[in-house]
Amino acid sequence: SLSDRLTGALKDLRGKGRLTDADIDATAREIRLALLEADVSLPVVRAFIGRIKERAKGAEVSGALNPAQQIVKIVNEELIGILGGETRRIQLAKNPPTVIMLAGLQGAGKTTLAGKLAAWLTKQGHTPMLVACDLQRPGAVQQLQIVGERAGVPVFAPHAGTGVGGEGALGVDGSKTAVEVAQAGVDEARAKQHDVVIIDTAGRLGIDAELMAQATAIRDATQPDEVLFVLDAMIGQDAVTTAQAFADGVDFTGVVLTKLDGDARGGAALSVREITGRPIMFASTGEKLDEFDVFHPDRMASRILGMGDVLSLIEQAEAHFDQAEAEKTAAKISQGELTLDDFLQQMLMIRKMGPIGNLLGMLPGAGDMKEALSQVDDKQLDKIQAIIRGMTPGERDDPKIINASRRRRIAAGSGVTVTDVNQLVDRFFAARKMMSQMSGRMGMGGGPKRNN
Ligand code: GDP
Ligand code: MG
Repeated sequence: SLSDRLTGALKDLRGKGRLTDADIDATAREIRLALLEADVSLPVVRAFIGRIKERAKGAEVSGALNPAQQIVKIVNEELIGILGGETRRIQLAKNPPTVIMLAGLQGAGKTTLAGKLAAWLTKQGHTPMLVACDLQRPGAVQQLQIVGERAGVPVFAPHAGTGVGGEGALGVDGSKTAVEVAQAGVDEARAKQHDVVIIDTAGRLGIDAELMAQATAIRDATQPDEVLFVLDAMIGQDAVTTAQAFADGVDFTGVVLTKLDGDARGGAALSVREITGRPIMFASTGEKLDEFDVFHPDRMASRILGMGDVLSLIEQAEAHFDQAEAEKTAAKISQGELTLDDFLQQMLMIRKMGPIGNLLGMLPGAGDMKEALSQVDDKQLDKIQAIIRGMTPGERDDPKIINASRRRRIAAGSGVTVTDVNQLVDRFFAARKMMSQMSGRMGMGGGPKRNN
């Protein structure tokens, strides 16, 4: 899956301090394969990868995130961008009724959507009416009537005494009749003062000139304020050709993705937005009336990435990260001047950010601290915190003065054994030395190093 491949591609970067162009190219290749596998169309993939690379190469080194996280963040932001950024709302007509026409292949979910949309609009104070213009599929009119009943909205149908003729009366010239029903439906809505009309239309199993001609005729007759192209998110690569055909044929103002409750790979959503330039406006996630929502690009992006956890960690890390503080700490580390207070502050910062297990990889600037902390669990952290709190400021500032009698006093005062105190102090010196050496190698700072 897309998320698996992305996870795989990014795993290699996890341990890196900084990304080279070669790293970025290699990661981009993996992301490219992942997107193609997820049925995103090639031109969209190309454009997408181009933007990712450009941004990754130009990216400022953020203190809060490691390079792998930075790439995830960039990919996520670009996904949201492609998916349309902000959500667009339905355009209401200045002179009601607002006409909304649904178009799409058979089985895409148009009729189901008609009910959902009607229920949703009703909740917002509108008085929608449904119009049954699928006169092709047997039982389609009745299906819409049931849907309308469930949603509690009236349905305008051919055999409801409109003079257009019943379903059985339809001849070869079905398209003309559908147009007449649509027209009569809009007139009826106006007369009965419904402020929104939703026109359900017929679909075909495949793209077909007759279907397109009928949809276009209904569009021309009713002049809809919105033509919503209803797309089954499960149809993969075909989504692109279908969307393109409807864009060229009827044209549409917005897209509705259905069946997002299935294991759709999300590629369809990406391609459709980018290729047609039309916003995805709603998402349908089940057969029930309320399994429907305004489309949220950010939620879809995180679904495609499959990295919801990673993304929320990134948010937390950025929210809690104090750049100035981190720089100060980094400078101290490189000088070998880290104190036990700094050590404690670092640990407290980590704790603020959540369960220690998830976050050890996130400690920035003083990133090497994670080495020192990697064998430490939450319970041990409590102990370490207690020990350091039991020290005088002088001891924390210059741990070298912590001799045997001080160790006994600290142990007694913080409810631990002298061995515990010894371990902490030893570990601290070892970590400080190691970090100072590493930061020296990485050219983070020079100057004389303090000896332990
Ligand atoms: P239409 O031919 O475009 O009008 O499609 P329908 O509204 O009749 O839907 C076709 C089938 O898909 C029906 O069995 C619906 O219950 C089902 N369906 C529609 N939308 C969704 C959805 O979002 N999730 C799921 N799981 N099923 C859906
Ligand atoms: Mg239908």
